[in-house]
Amino acid sequence: MAKEVAKLSFWGVRGSTPTVDRATWRYGGNTSCLELITPDGGRLILDCGTGLRILGNRLAAASDKKIEAEILVTHYHWDHIQGIPFFAPLYSPQNKFHFYSFRSEFIGRDSLKRVFEAQMAHPYFPVDLQAMSAVRDFTDVSGGDCFAIGKNRVTTCWLNHPQGCLGYRIETPVGTIVYATDNEPGNLEYERNLRRLAEGADIFINDAQYTPEQLEHHRGWGHSSWREGVRIAEGAGVRNLVLFHHDPDSSDKAIDGILRDARERFENTWAAAEGMVMTLGEEETDVVIPAVRDGLRREAHFRARVTGLTQEGKAFEEDTVIRDLSLHGALIYLDHSPKLQSELQVTIENPGNGAHTDRALRGYVVRIEPGPEKDQVGVGIVFTE
Ligand SMILES: [Zn+2]
Ligand SMILES: [Zn+2]
Repeated sequence: MAKEVAKLSFWGVRGSTPTVDRATWRYGGNTSCLELITPDGGRLILDCGTGLRILGNRLAAASDKKIEAEILVTHYHWDHIQGIPFFAPLYSPQNKFHFYSFRSEFIGRDSLKRVFEAQMAHPYFPVDLQAMSAVRDFTDVSGGDCFAIGKNRVTTCWLNHPQGCLGYRIETPVGTIVYATDNEPGNLEYERNLRRLAEGADIFINDAQYTPEQLEHHRGWGHSSWREGVRIAEGAGVRNLVLFHHDPDSSDKAIDGILRDARERFENTWAAAEGMVMTLGEEETDVVIPAVRDGLRREAHFRARVTGLTQEGKAFEEDTVIRDLSLHGALIYLDHSPKLQSELQVTIENPGNGAHTDRALRGYVVRIEPGPEKDQVGVGIVFTE
C-alpha cells in the first residue's frame, strides 16, 4: 500500500501585488495561493491570489474529470482574491467548489459571494457571474471555529491585520500545516492566539513581507518579518518555518538575504517559492522545487570545484564535472548533499573558448535529485552572480 502523505504546493508566494520583474522570477511573482492534497485524497486551496490561475490551468489540463476543492480564503485584500475570475475550473458546470471565509463588517452577509459579484460587475470584467457555471457553496467561518474537511481538522484564528484576516490550522492524519499570512506583530492577545494556532506544527507558513528594519517603518500595514516568525516558531515548537508573502519590491537577492538571516536563528526555515512542494509523510518533511523555469539547456563538460554547506550544515569542498549547462544555471553531480535554497561557490575551469582563467560563480540550490551513481546526488543550481 502506498504511504500516506500530505502534499503542499506553492502557486503564489508574493504579497500585495503580483510582479513580473526579472529580479523576482526565482521566487516568483504571483500572489498568495497554496494547494494541499490531503492523505484522504481531498484538495484544499488556500487563498485565491493570482497563483490560482496557474493552478486552475494545470487542473483543467490534467484531466477532463470533475474538479472539486475546498477553498479557504483568509481575507478580502486584492492579493488574496484576484485570481478568482481567472480560475478556469469555475467556468465548467461539472466542477464543484466549497468556499470558506469570514463575514466582513464592510460587506455584510455572504461576504465572499458578494466579492464574486463585485469582481465581475460592469465595467470591471468582460462577462458576468452567469458565466461562472461551476457549483459553488459558501460557508461563513469566524476566528476560533473548528470544523472537519474529510479526515482533516481545520481550526481558525483571527490575525492582526487591517479589516481582519483568518489564520488556518489544518491537522491531517500525517501532520499539521498552519497558514498564517498577513499578520502584524505587537499585539499580545493576537500573538497568544497565533502561538496556539502554530503549536507543534510540522509546517508553519508565516508572513515575512518585511525585513525587521523595514517593519519598523511599516507599522499599521498588517505585516511581519522573519524575526517574528522565528520567535513564534521557537515558542510553538514548530518543525519547519516557511517565510511567505514576499514584498513585491524584494528582489530574489533580497529574499536570499532574509532567508540567510532567518536560518542563522532557525535552521529549518524555507523561503516560499513558486513551484515549491512540501511533502509531509510518516518520516521527515520533504521539500523540493521541481519546476525551474530555466532557459535552453546544453550538454557541457567543464571541470568545477564546489564549496558549500551540507544538509547537516557542515562545510564541504568537492571537484565535479558540469555536464548540463543553461544560461541560468547548471545540473551538477555531487557526493555531498547540499541544503535546498543554500548557496554554493562554483569555480569553473576554463569556461570559454581559449580562456585561461577560472570563472567563480555563485549558485543557489533549487533542486536535489538522485544522481546517476549510488551515493551521488544531482543538484540543480541557478547562478545568481
Ligand atoms: Zn496579502
Ligand atoms: Zn492583507
